[in-house]
Amino acid sequence: MLAYQKPCTIGDPVDDIDTPALVVCLNKLEENVGKMNTAMEKYPGVAVRPHVKTHKCPEVARMQMRAGAVGMCCQTLTEAEAMVGGGVADVFITNELVGKTKLRRLASLARQAAVSITVDDAANLQDISDVATEMGVTIHIAIEVNVGQDRCGVEPGEPAVSLAKLATSLPGVTFKGIHCYNGWNQHVRSTEERSNAVNKVVDLTRKTLEALKAAGLECPYVTGGGTGTFHFEAASKVFTEVQPGSYVFMDADYYKNLARDGNFDTEFLQSLFVLTTVQSAAASGERVVLDAGLKAVSLDSGVPMLSQRPDLTYHSGGDNHGIVTPGGDLPVGSKVWLIPGHCDPTVNLYDWIVGLRDGKVECVWPVSGRGPGN
Ligand code: PLP
Ligand code: MN
Repeated sequence: MLAYQKPCTIGDPVDDIDTPALVVCLNKLEENVGKMNTAMEKYPGVAVRPHVKTHKCPEVARMQMRAGAVGMCCQTLTEAEAMVGGGVADVFITNELVGKTKLRRLASLARQAAVSITVDDAANLQDISDVATEMGVTIHIAIEVNVGQDRCGVEPGEPAVSLAKLATSLPGVTFKGIHCYNGWNQHVRSTEERSNAVNKVVDLTRKTLEALKAAGLECPYVTGGGTGTFHFEAASKVFTEVQPGSYVFMDADYYKNLARDGNFDTEFLQSLFVLTTVQSAAASGERVVLDAGLKAVSLDSGVPMLSQRPDLTYHSGGDNHGIVTPGGDLPVGSKVWLIPGHCDPTVNLYDWIVGLRDGKVECVWPVSGRGPGN
């Protein structure tokens, strides 16, 4: 049970927060949620369904819903269950779920909320139909199309049509539309190159829509795009929905999407931090050691930045240690604010998000959707 102990209580000053702790600046989080709303006003008819994989937290989802989101995207069942449990009435699982155990959980959720899911396999679609029929629910199907990520998804055009036809013919399921997401594009650094990359996505999506139309199938739902590219998908006149996730928190990797062209790349603020403490300064002329290693901050997209200390560099010190160089002015006990390299897997390491305003803890939210992927 100790793992679930909160790192602080409401009203605590920063110094009383046990570290390492995942801390969100509430003013910046709220500003990011508002900025997405404003950004989307430019694209009438295009909905925003933020991705929960970033925060896995019903409190943040409710904030996004209040700002106009039509529902939430989830990557895992645990995330979807946490959201529905937290009052979200419409969840879209942007991931293939395989096997009766998972599909029964999926169908149970469909008793409480509108549930959609991506599919790229006929036998899996048949299984979803069987479970939904058995349990007396309807599950909405979005065919996942491979628009360049080369991960899941059927190829654009005809392969998508045959699965869509199957979805219209089976009981317990409906054909909702197509899912056309390319994750690599989000992190292409220059705006122009990112825009060109999305043009390819749009071409493959349009090709699939034309094939569906030729087969007599209506496709009113086309979804995709993340924080790095949603402006382009939203402006394409092809997409009806975008799925940005990271914009609520941002991270050091997304900061490398340069605002070279002076446009929207940095419209979102870095709101998420890992609060750490210097635990050793024995070699302080050369380095100090933080109580935050790779079990406290994800390193898959590069090391964290040190907030307001661009002169200092984080190096991995193993599971439980982070090394900072040169670090000479940081005594034992001083606090260091890390900006994670990658927000999503960092959040997944914590049970709690500490919400901070004006230097005091305002809330401590559970990361209810966390887990390895089930
Ligand atoms: N949609 C899907 C299917 C994703 O896998 C992701 C993230 O990986 C997103 C949306 C959100 O992307 P981002 O966090 O870059 O906004
Ligand atoms: Mn990510």
